[in-house]
Amino acid sequence: MQVFQKNSNIFNLLSEGVSEGIVVVNSEQIIVATNSSAREMFGYDTDELEGKPLDTLIPSKYHHSHGGHVDHFIEKSEKRQMAKGRDLSGVRKNGEEFPVEAGLNPFKLYGSTYVMALVIDISERKARERELSHWAQIFDESLNEIFIFDKQTLKFINVNQGAQHNIGYSSDELIKLTPIDIKPDIDEIAFRKLISPLLEKTEKKIQFETIHQRKDGSRYPVEVHLQLSNLGDREVFLAIILDITERHNYTEKLEKTVEKRTKQLTEALAKEKELNELKTRFLSLVSHEFKTPLSSILTSITLLGKYTQTEQQKKRDKHVDTIRNKVKYLDTILNDFLSVERLESGKVNYKVETFPLSKLVNEVIYDANMLLKTGQRINYPSNIDDLLIKFDEKTLELVLSNLIHNAIKYSPEDSSIDLYVEEQTDKLVLKVVDKGIGIPKEDQKHIFNRYFRAENALLNQGTGIGLNIAKQHLENLGASLEFTSEENKGSTFIVNLPKELNYSLENETNTIN
Ligand code: ADP
Repeated sequence: MQVFQKNSNIFNLLSEGVSEGIVVVNSEQIIVATNSSAREMFGYDTDELEGKPLDTLIPSKYHHSHGGHVDHFIEKSEKRQMAKGRDLSGVRKNGEEFPVEAGLNPFKLYGSTYVMALVIDISERKARERELSHWAQIFDESLNEIFIFDKQTLKFINVNQGAQHNIGYSSDELIKLTPIDIKPDIDEIAFRKLISPLLEKTEKKIQFETIHQRKDGSRYPVEVHLQLSNLGDREVFLAIILDITERHNYTEKLEKTVEKRTKQLTEALAKEKELNELKTRFLSLVSHEFKTPLSSILTSITLLGKYTQTEQQKKRDKHVDTIRNKVKYLDTILNDFLSVERLESGKVNYKVETFPLSKLVNEVIYDANMLLKTGQRINYPSNIDDLLIKFDEKTLELVLSNLIHNAIKYSPEDSSIDLYVEEQTDKLVLKVVDKGIGIPKEDQKHIFNRYFRAENALLNQGTGIGLNIAKQHLENLGASLEFTSEENKGSTFIVNLPKELNYSLENETNTIN
């Protein structure tokens, strides 16, 4: 057809100014004309395409379907964009395929039907689209939460899947919210102040930790990275959120461990300190408690040596008594100290057996009589000869002598001390009653503490150990010790010995000394 010939001015005039490729085919789909854009696009020289089938420009895999498509257009004589909704490819002379967009314009000329295809190479656009969709995919699939929100209204514009998933709101719900709605600890004033360095451009990025609240009300700690970003020609905020629950848990765990260890260390140090203090106290007690009786023993021995005459027997007896008393006292406190050590190290073994109470009482009273002050006397029951008792004898002796020695020590001359034995249905009760100095009310709660001595007792010798070990031994054996006391009136110490002892003995054959 003349009009499409190479030198046809009309076609050249019409087609060369167009940037799209133009390919005209006849009803047999033979290319009858191309413009230079089309030739460049497909990589052909002038005239090379004319007379060739349209399929030359179409990858072979599309040949069949394509033919039908074009025929249909020609029949219908419609002007339409080809391959709408599906990707269309062209093939260059060198075999390279590339994406195209084509518009088909059927027309008639001098009675023949032609189709003019307007072809655009969309390789670059496709590449850009691919890149964009890749970024969109990264945005959406990111496990970190990404929020985009408006610079002024602070309303969310876009929120990735990760964020929707964790916060529990859908994107439709989120676009009605602002970051403040999901931050229970930050109000609008505080938030606007927080983002002001970004708006004033003094900072490019800010980072802070806060709490996010999910739709279901649960909360989780987050680290927020916030910056301004451009969405088209609009400035928006871009927030990347890291859920730091794990980090927090780890830190919390670490803090707890540190706290626990510090506590253990402090306790160990305190114990160490207490032990040191006890040691110091013990040493000063020992030196004091031993020194006084030892020096009076020494004095008595010195004097004894001087009373050589027969008629001085009374004086000699007095000093022998003193020596006996002091040695007895030293023996008692030494036993007390040893008892403390055994109780502390858990090395006490009791020997529970049945014995007559009267035997023990007689021994204790006999020893105690030697300690009596002038005019003091001990009253004790004479009708207990038949009373058998099942207990650790050494322990009961230690307890009873401690109580009676205290009664003597803390009572004035000419006062009486009473020992009562009461047999009740389930227990045997021993009471030591004195009319002595008593225990001040405010000191009573401490009286069983080791080394504790009441204010009014300090003029008397003592270690503050006796009651403590007595109570511990009794309780170890299922018995108990209690008291009532009134200052300047007297005290009553009560030992309750249950008839059925409920304690377990590991080795009954060992005794406490
Ligand atoms: P100590 O060696 O000091 O007598 P104890 O443990 O036997 O040690 O007694 C502790 C403290 O209890 C005494 O220092 C004293 O203050 C008080 N106490 C004990 N028995 C009596 C008592 N019968 N009358 C008054 N106070 C007593």
